[in-house]
Amino acid sequence: MPTNARADHDPPAPEPVEVLLGLGSNLGDRDAAIAAALDALGRVPGVEVVEVSPLLESEPVGGPPQSKYRNGAARLRTTLVPHALLAVLKATERAAGRVPGPRNGPRPLDLDILTFGGRTLDTRDLVVPHPRLHERSFVVEPLRALGVDVDAIPRIARPRVVDTPAAVQEASLAWRRGGCSIGFVPTMGALHEGHASLIRRARAECDRVVVSIFVNPLQFAAHEDLDKYPRPLSADLELCERNGVDLAFVPPVEAMYPAGFASRIAVGAEAEAMEGAARPGHFIGVATVVARLWSIVLPDRSYYGRKDAQQVAVLRRLQQDLCLSGELVECPIDREADGLARSSRNVYLSPEDRTAARAVPRALSAAVRAHRNGVHGRDELLGLARAELDAEASCTGVDYLEIRTDLELAPWPGDRPVDSSARILVAARFGDPATRLLDNASFRDEPPVVG
Ligand code: AMP
Repeated sequence: MPTNARADHDPPAPEPVEVLLGLGSNLGDRDAAIAAALDALGRVPGVEVVEVSPLLESEPVGGPPQSKYRNGAARLRTTLVPHALLAVLKATERAAGRVPGPRNGPRPLDLDILTFGGRTLDTRDLVVPHPRLHERSFVVEPLRALGVDVDAIPRIARPRVVDTPAAVQEASLAWRRGGCSIGFVPTMGALHEGHASLIRRARAECDRVVVSIFVNPLQFAAHEDLDKYPRPLSADLELCERNGVDLAFVPPVEAMYPAGFASRIAVGAEAEAMEGAARPGHFIGVATVVARLWSIVLPDRSYYGRKDAQQVAVLRRLQQDLCLSGELVECPIDREADGLARSSRNVYLSPEDRTAARAVPRALSAAVRAHRNGVHGRDELLGLARAELDAEASCTGVDYLEIRTDLELAPWPGDRPVDSSARILVAARFGDPATRLLDNASFRDEPPVVG
């Protein structure tokens, strides 16, 4: 029997699929490296090189300073599955002398799968169609030379915007199956550089980044600013796009709280003082929405700002108590140039109140600086901070100004000298109608710089 004969019970041979490949090189004899790679690929069982574009000369994009590239494209037919072809391409790159180096760094050979039949794939090491294909003339031109209708190749939208929990969960589970780690940044939108700093951290540490944008009615009391809370959705999505967010979850209220939704999560002592006392029920709303979001997104890491230090303490307790997945990452406070902590609510401040609001970081700074100069009495430090707030006529109220232990935020006894494990926290109101500003600082860190 000839070796290629097929018995009736054998599975049928896989149908060959057309693959478009990007070719590049900027080290050594570039044309020879590309030609040798195509020759080697053509000899791999299950791979046929059908057509190769002319090579063009192009400037490097990103990465360290480096010499020009030769780029082209090839049309293959293959019976290999996508990750098997990827493994062949990686081995071919290594055989050409490619070693691990900086992202977008110089390389003797670069072989990218641009399309794989009509398939869409989004895994840790392979995304097709290639997400940056359409933006790169050194890819588009060679493809056009092969007669490819580049505009007909679907673009992977980043961020993908979805509005149902089911769509988020589906994406999240697919990424997990593809070996991707998931970073999650929950927000109420009106995104600013503070949010962006969390997103960038998630981007650096995770394979895929999910941001939720949801003004959660459950955490607002009846007299609070739910209706006037800013909702600049298109600017928010632009910020997400600039910072590499993969998926933005923008649910309507009914998707988060469908008819019949009745559960509430009450967190213990962490939720009672300070914000909890000033805004009764607030942390029940926060814990409930975050638990639901957490279960929808299934993150490996979720990112929160230390600006809301008590929120972080509440969520840390929630995560431990309910065994919610992954790691909770606490990120530093991002401040405006003059020291005011960035907040979506800063837009409510009139120009005069905005200037006066600098008293908040100034108050924290005064306490931290005095501590560095040897003042360790709790009440004395609080008095110094309070004097800065009281000096501003437009500071219409101080909801709390307290020194507590870092992380757990337990009360700091008056007779215990304040040490570097303490944190000073404040909520103060400015202007009329009042805007509440929250801030805090550790006695371990540099004092906030106030301009
Ligand atoms: P929000 O949209 O106000 O609910 O905030 C969403 C997340 O961004 C929370 O974890 C906040 O603590 C965080 N965040 C807000 N402002 C800042 C800031 N200035 N610096 C760092 N994180 C922030």
